[in-house]
Order: sequence, then structure tokens, then C-alpha cells
Amino acid sequence: MTIETILPIPDIFSAKRILCIQPHYDDNDIAAAGILTQLARNGAELFYLTATDDLMGVVDTSLSNKEAADILKSDQFAAGKIVGVKEQFWCGYPDAGEYNYFDLRRDFLKHIRMLKPDFVFAPDAWLTYEGHRDHIQTGLAAAEAVMFAGLTKIASSNTAVDAAYEGHALQGIALYFTREPNVIMDITSTWEDKIDAVKCYEAQFKPAEMDQLIMALDMKSQQVAQGQSFAHGEPLKVLHTSALHVGI
Ligand SMILES: [Zn+2]
Repeated sequence: MTIETILPIPDIFSAKRILCIQPHYDDNDIAAAGILTQLARNGAELFYLTATDDLMGVVDTSLSNKEAADILKSDQFAAGKIVGVKEQFWCGYPDAGEYNYFDLRRDFLKHIRMLKPDFVFAPDAWLTYEGHRDHIQTGLAAAEAVMFAGLTKIASSNTAVDAAYEGHALQGIALYFTREPNVIMDITSTWEDKIDAVKCYEAQFKPAEMDQLIMALDMKSQQVAQGQSFAHGEPLKVLHTSALHVGI
């Protein structure tokens, strides 16, 4: 018997409901739209939960916050249509701002207990040289919320959700923006869809920046696919929920 028999890498293609938790509006799609599109086409229901209001990255600084928020959401809906996102949720914490980690974790717990996903996607909080606190906090709070979903003594931000929650099988977490992947997903069949989805995020990138992003994604997707039998890949660290603590 090996440790892998006790804690096998969960199969994301068996997931029926997937909650994708991201710091900003575009992170899920930049990191994982290729595999998420495949999962949606495979019959999984995709839910996106965005931690921050993302207002700091909006290129047109003449827009009011309300106008900028409306454009960000319409970009996100357009991308979500391509990927096959069923529903979008937002926490609305200030982008790159001051907010409480435990409030964020309570909101993530609420959504996990409310939506009962069998898989969660989130950024890898342990990405070396990640300098953006929104990414670190979102990744860590998502990992903790996955671990603590069944422990209703750890309150979410909604007591009614906690009271109604009877537990559910949460198979695992897929960490994206990771430097230590344990799977490289073949996204060749949905590569064009991914690029179309990323291109929807017009409010946050000047045209030249968008071209550069697409080029970088193309190079990276080919780099991670080297030695594999496919052209474009997305790296993920897929972990059983019990593998998120003390490294056993
Ligand atoms: Zn981000």
C-alpha cells in the first residue's frame, strides 16, 4: 500500500459541480479556461466566485466605479458564455486594498456550504514570488474553506446557510497559477475557446497588453506541454481535501 492509495489524486472529470474561486474577474479564465471549458462540456456545472471588486486594474480611469464595475461584469459574462459558466458570484472586497482575511474565509465557507461543489478551483497560495496579496489571501482562504466546510462550528458569513448545511462530499481542490503541478491538462481542443474568453476582458488590458498576454499564455501552454503528446497544456496541483494539511 502506498500513500497514493489512501489519498489518490481526485479525478476532476468526475466533478459535477465546480466552484472556481478567484481574486480578480479574469484569473480563473487566464489560468484555467481551457480545462474549465472542457469540464463544462463534459456536463459539470461551473460557478465562479470573485473575491475583489477588481477596480484598480481598469484601464480607463475616467470611468466612475459604477461604470467600471458594469463593464467588468459584462466582460466577465461574455467570457463566461464561452467557457460555460452557470452562475457568477462576487464578494466585492477592495482590489489590492485593506480587508479582513477571516471575512474572506467566511464568505468562501458560505458559498461552499450553499453551492455544495464537489471540486474547488483556486490560485495556489504558495506560488513562489507571488507578490499580490489578493492572490495569496484568496488561495489560502479557499484552501481553508475547503478543509473546514464540514466543520460548521467554524462559522461562515451566513448563519442560515450554516444551520441548513448537512455536509457533502467535497473531493478536492485544483490549484492553478502553480509552480508545482501534479497534472498537466491537455487543453488543445479548447485552446481557441480559452483565448476567445481571455480576449473578453477588455476593460483591464490595453490592446498591446492583451496581445502580449495572449503570446505569453501561448508560450507557457506549449512549454508545459513539452514531452507530452499534446500541443497546449494547463498545469494544476490537484489535491485531495485531506492533503491540504501537514503534508502527509
Ligand atoms: Zn488576479
